[in-house]
Order: sequence, then structure tokens, then C-alpha cells
Amino acid sequence: MKPPRLFAILALSLPVVAQSTSSQKPVTHQHAALSPEAVHRSAIVIDTHADTPQRMLDDHYDLAEPLNGGYLNFAAAKQGNLGAEFFSIWVEPKLYDGHYARRTLELIDAVHQAAAKHPDQMTMAYSAEDIERAHREHKLAALMGIEGGHSIEDSLGLLRDYYRLGVRYMTLTWSNSNAWADSSGDADDPMVKHTQDGLSDFGKDVVYEMNRLGMMVDISHVSDKTFYRAVITSRAPVFASHSSARALTNAPRNMTDDMLRAVARSGGPNSKGGVVMVNFYSAFISDTWRTAWAAQAPERQAAEKAQVEKWKDEGKTITYEMTDAMDKEWAAKIPRPPLSALIDHIDHVARVAGIDHVGLGSDFDGIPSSPEGIDSAADLPKITAALMERGYSSEECRKILGGNFLRFFREVQATAKQLQAQVERPKITDQQPFKK
Ligand SMILES: [Zn+2]
Repeated sequence: MKPPRLFAILALSLPVVAQSTSSQKPVTHQHAALSPEAVHRSAIVIDTHADTPQRMLDDHYDLAEPLNGGYLNFAAAKQGNLGAEFFSIWVEPKLYDGHYARRTLELIDAVHQAAAKHPDQMTMAYSAEDIERAHREHKLAALMGIEGGHSIEDSLGLLRDYYRLGVRYMTLTWSNSNAWADSSGDADDPMVKHTQDGLSDFGKDVVYEMNRLGMMVDISHVSDKTFYRAVITSRAPVFASHSSARALTNAPRNMTDDMLRAVARSGGPNSKGGVVMVNFYSAFISDTWRTAWAAQAPERQAAEKAQVEKWKDEGKTITYEMTDAMDKEWAAKIPRPPLSALIDHIDHVARVAGIDHVGLGSDFDGIPSSPEGIDSAADLPKITAALMERGYSSEECRKILGGNFLRFFREVQATAKQLQAQVERPKITDQQPFKK
């Protein structure tokens, strides 16, 4: 436990105790006595990124079944007190070239179908209020986020259609740049065409339309240039659905300290700012793991390519579980980072961006390796226990587990209402529209 943090908690709690009348119990003492398990149970736990829809669609995976190598099912969610999951709608850009919208729609349908099949366990959710309702009903709230702006095929109409179908965030790019936004995955590739200043004029229109709809602007995966352009373009605060800290692990897809602070300060003049949801992937939380994975890449990629060719020759359809199993086999050759590596990242974001600007974005079912002890959503309480061991209060833990994200989601919804009430659309300029 760190003395400065403990001191701050005690100093804050003193006036509350002093104001209590003799008939009132000092609430702060009750909180101090809560076990990590009780704190975890008392929170609305929200994870903003899981790639499970591919399993559902390609492998007909049913969340009522055993995990079978995956990270998420109903049993694990219950055990880990997971209240809401954002299911990622991710379209592999090479495999589905020319059919992005079709694949997007099919993945969206897979999530709706899962909720329809298990109405007693899971319910579709479209707002912060829906997440709270699901929590009261002891059901998993299912939300959706599109991962990669290529899904809209340069059409604001498609963007609006996806919103109507329930999509509540969009990652401006995945690892591939699109016609209007650049990705950290190919920012240095001279063969890829990039925008002049991070977002094209159409890209700024996309961000504005997302603000107007109430679709959260997700900056995970984008290039640094696109990140800053999105922050100054967006009328609502922005967030990272699954990104870790670059100061600790030097992955280009992780966020610098300056970016962490920029997310915290994003949004209009009265904004409470955005949130950074920390990714659990071993390569994003440990430089040792990342280096080993990169060193293995030539051999791994050649072997995987040969295997895929072999399957194709045999007339097999390549499914998510097939490619995922290959990656996991290679990842298993590298020792997993300790759980403390993940906690270090959460702690770093909390210190740099602020305690009100950090959350969890696991990337479950999208990553071949996670830290020791985190084998599925059932292990989420271990994160709360580790945070409390480092001196985080029960209140701070509840913020990280979901409170911060709910506050941010509400603000995005409120901003959308304001924009919808405006008759004239604000002019898009290169200047930051807000003085803060
Ligand atoms: Zn991702």
C-alpha cells in the first residue's frame, strides 16, 4: 500500500465521519472493511472489447457452452461478475475485401441471435441506462462496437444503419488504414496511402456524425496523427476501447502519456473527459513478451501460412477457432507475463490520465496470450484484489471496473441530444472547437 494514497483517503474520509450524527454509522468504516471480493461484487463491471462474435458466427459458438479455449461464456461472466460486454464487430480486411458490409451485418446478427436464444441470461443494451437495467435483472448486458472504419465502406448511411442496429462505438481504424483515417498498424508503410493530417474531410464528417448519433469515438488502433485529429474534431469526449500504456510497453498501438492526458481532457468545455480501457494482451503489457513474439514472427507466419494453404487445398473453410488455435500454440511457447504487469498498466493510466479516466478493455477472444491468472472473464475479481493490495479504495476500484465508463457513455449520449437539437450543423474546422 502506498502511504500517499492512504493519507489522501483518510484525509477525505475525515469530514464525512465528523459530520455523522451518533445515530448514523460511519459509512467510510464499513467501506474500509469490505473484502476485495465484496468490492468486486458491488461494482457494475464493464469490459469494452471482446472478439467473441467471430466464434459465434463462424464456429456457432454458444455462450451457454463450456469455454473450449475461449475467454467468455455465461458461466465465466457470472463468476467474474461481468455486468456488460461490448462485443467487437471486426471484419478481417483482406479475407472480406469487397464484402465488408455483409460481414459486419452478419456479425451484428450473431450477437442479436445469442441474446434472443438466451433471454434469461443476456439482454441487448444500447445505453448506460440499459446497462444498469441489465444489472438489476442479473443479466449480462450485450453491447456492440465496430472495430475498424472500413466497415462503413465510406458511407454515412451505413454508419447510421449500424447505429440503428445497436452499434454504440466505432474504432476509427483497425490495423489497416482506410480512405479517411490512418492506422498505427501501417502508418510507416510507404505502400499504403494515408490522409494528409490524420483525418480526411470525410473522416471529420464521420466523427461528427458519430457525435450526433451518440456513437462513441474509439481511438484504439489509430495512428498518432489520427488520434490527435480525432480528439480536436470530436464534440464528445473520445475513448480507447482496448489500449495500454506506451511508456511501459513500447507497442505503437499503445498510448503515450501525452495521449492518455489528451483523452482525459477530450470533449467540450464542460466535459468530464474520456476513458482509456486497458488491454490485457501480453504483447501490450510486457516488453519481454512483445519482443519474444516479434522474434518468433518470421517462423510463425511462414508456418501459419503453410497451414492455411493446406486447409484451403483440402477445401476447408478457415474459421476463427482454427486460426486462433494456431496463434495460441505459438504464444504458449513464450512465458506469460505476471498479473502485476497488467496492474502496472492500469495504475499508470490512473496516475497519468487520472483515476476518473481508466477502465478495462480485455480484448478477450481477440488475443493469443493474457497475463498469468487471467484465463477467462471468471478471473476478473483478481484484478480488483490486486488493485486493493496496491492501495486503491473500494470507490476507486468501482470507478475502474465500470463507473468511469458509464459516466463517459452518458456524456456521449447527452452530447448527441444537444447536437440533434441544433438546426445547423457546426462547421468543421482544423481548430479545436473548444477552449479548455
Ligand atoms: Zn483490436
